[in-house]
Amino acid sequence: MPNPQRVTERLFQSPSKYIQGPAALQNAPKYLSSLGRAPLLAVDNIVYDIAGKALIGVLQNSGFKVTRGAFGGEASGEEISQLTNLAREKKCDFVIGLGGGKTIDTAKAVADQLKVQVAILPTTASTDAPCSALSVIYRPSGEFERYSFYDQNPTFVLVDTGVIVKAPPRFLAAGIGDAVATNCEARLCRNSVNFGGGLPTEVSVSIAQKCEEILFKYGKQAYEANKAGAVTPAFEAVVEANTLLSGLGFESGGLAAAHAVRLSLPPATCARSPLQQVHNGFTAVSGVHHLMHGEKVAFGTIVQLVLDGEPTAEIDRYLELMLSVDLPVTFQQLGIPKVTDAELLKVAELACAPNETIWNMERIINPQIVLSALKGADAVGRAYIARTGWSKSK
Ligand SMILES: [Zn+2]
Repeated sequence: MPNPQRVTERLFQSPSKYIQGPAALQNAPKYLSSLGRAPLLAVDNIVYDIAGKALIGVLQNSGFKVTRGAFGGEASGEEISQLTNLAREKKCDFVIGLGGGKTIDTAKAVADQLKVQVAILPTTASTDAPCSALSVIYRPSGEFERYSFYDQNPTFVLVDTGVIVKAPPRFLAAGIGDAVATNCEARLCRNSVNFGGGLPTEVSVSIAQKCEEILFKYGKQAYEANKAGAVTPAFEAVVEANTLLSGLGFESGGLAAAHAVRLSLPPATCARSPLQQVHNGFTAVSGVHHLMHGEKVAFGTIVQLVLDGEPTAEIDRYLELMLSVDLPVTFQQLGIPKVTDAELLKVAELACAPNETIWNMERIINPQIVLSALKGADAVGRAYIARTGWSKSK
């Protein structure tokens, strides 16, 4: 039941500013000065060397008093408390999260504890996490613990494409995999309650459509530009699609089966949202563990298209895009060539958990039906590869 409480309000939420460009970090003081003068900078040691040191220099030159909060690598309650205490002790008046998904999720949680504003400065374009008002919290051991929802989205999201282009192209491809699900899922959620607790607005529908349009137009070109270390208009467009359009699209549009089926390996380790049914499901199959979130969501998107009875020509469009950026579309490519029906049934059962987003689908859904869709997705991928003679790009 997509709308059990019979909600009638439409709701759209977002950061108040999104800034993106090839030297955005150098211009950070101009944007961040309205948030305060004494930020806590959550950053891990690797990102500190790549971008943190330079950012602190730029901020200090503009009169900011920066406290470096060394992020240890896990978005856990312990890390959040430690950084929150440090920020209180140093009298920080806002938070900056510089890095990947876990740093971003931790920074949002710390800002929520302190009741101050947060600016997110992502260093990869691999997920749609930067813009949303939620975090995924893990145990220190790395197991999934819970989702945390906040009253406010990050105030600013500032994306330096000169930094993003230095990340391995696989990160951009994973972001494309995550983003290509956005419109496929949102178009099934027109009557479902979104993450803000309201119905999708017209603008969230258009954002999801635009996201898809950009990926089909520029996805491959951006991936090749990333390999060459080149910030081109196509690269800028895809970074925006992966970060802003996918983020707004999923949060205010809604998720369906693609995120639910994510291979349920150990269920706790890879879960990112209650909606990740195909994706969440995949977290249960051992072998898929090393895959990035967006890689699992990409396969989940094919599962959803099969589940929804889309024609072969339509599914082929998505397969072509995914293969053009080396995203996995078969069990073999996912690293689970010998996966059994029993294992896939586990994936399907997790994808069909009571509060999973798969229930936004207007189809009859049960684990057996999802199991068949999983096998059907692998079959269409294999058939496409055999028919087109596709081979991995170098
Ligand atoms: Zn996602």
